[in-house]
Amino acid sequence: MAGTDETQRKVSFGFEEVTEAEKVARVKGVFRSVASRYDLMNDLMSAGVHRLWKHDAMNKVNPQPGERHLDVAGGTGELARAFLELADKAGQRRGDTRHATAIVCDINDAMLEAGKARADNAKWEGRLDWVCADGQKLPYPDKSFDVVTVSFGIRNFADRVAGLKEFRRVLKTGGRLAVLEFSHMTAPMFQQAYDAYSFAVIPPLGSLVAGDRESYQYLVESIRQFPEQSVFKAEIEGAGFRQVSVTNYSGGIAALHFGWAA
Ligand code: SAM
Repeated sequence: MAGTDETQRKVSFGFEEVTEAEKVARVKGVFRSVASRYDLMNDLMSAGVHRLWKHDAMNKVNPQPGERHLDVAGGTGELARAFLELADKAGQRRGDTRHATAIVCDINDAMLEAGKARADNAKWEGRLDWVCADGQKLPYPDKSFDVVTVSFGIRNFADRVAGLKEFRRVLKTGGRLAVLEFSHMTAPMFQQAYDAYSFAVIPPLGSLVAGDRESYQYLVESIRQFPEQSVFKAEIEGAGFRQVSVTNYSGGIAALHFGWAA
C-alpha cells in the first residue's frame, strides 16, 4: 500500500486544518506582518512578563564562556543577546576570557531584519550571527552546538517532532535544549479569565497596535492547539533528550521544557 502523501498531511493552523506547506506559508505571512511591532506587542500583551519568563529560562540554561548557542525561531534575537550577556558574566566571575557565540536562526527575514535593526547589536559584533533558515532543516553539521533554545517558536512549526529531532542532531552529546512556549494552565479556576482575556483582548490589541487582528487571532488559537506539558515532555524525550524538566510560569500560561541531549 502506498504510504501517506506527506505533502498532503494536515496540521493545525490555529483552529483550522491545513497542509504542512500551507502552514509554513501562512506562518511566514503572520510574522512578516507583525515583525516591526512584534517586540512592542509582546510587552503590551504580557505587561512585560514575557521578559521575566525569558530571563528565568536563560538562567536555567546557564550560558558559559566559549559556548556555541543556536536560537531557533529566534525572531528579533532576545534570547541570543541574553545568552551572550550571561556567558560574559560567568566568564568575568571566573576570569575566563573565552567568547561565547550565538546564532539567531529564523525562517522569516522580516523578523531577523527587525532584530538586526536594534542598536545594542554593535556590542556583539562578530559574536552574534543572523541566519534565515527553517528550524526543521538546520544548515549545520551534527553536534555543532552546546545549547539550542526556542522561545515561542515551536508552536508554529509544521512538524514539531521533526524540529525536535533536528535540534538533537545539531547538539553535542550532553548539550542543553531549552524550549519556552505558551502552555496550559495548571490552575483551572483562572482558565475562564485567561480565555476571556485571550480572545476578547489580544486580537483587538493586535489590530490597534500592529494593524493585524488575524495574526493575533492565530496566536491565541495556536496556543490552545499546542500539547499539554506532559505530552510535549514525552515528545522531547522521544527525540533523544534525557532528564527533561518542566517549569511552569504564571500558572502554566507559559512553560519551559529543559533537557539534555542523550
Ligand atoms: N523567539 C522569539 C521570541 O521569543 O521573541 C520569536 C518568537 S515568534 C512568536 C515565532 C518565530 O518563529 C517567528 O519569528 C517565526 O518566523 C519563527 N518560525 C516559525 N516557524 C519557523 C520555522 N519552521 N523555522 C524557523 N523559524 C520559524
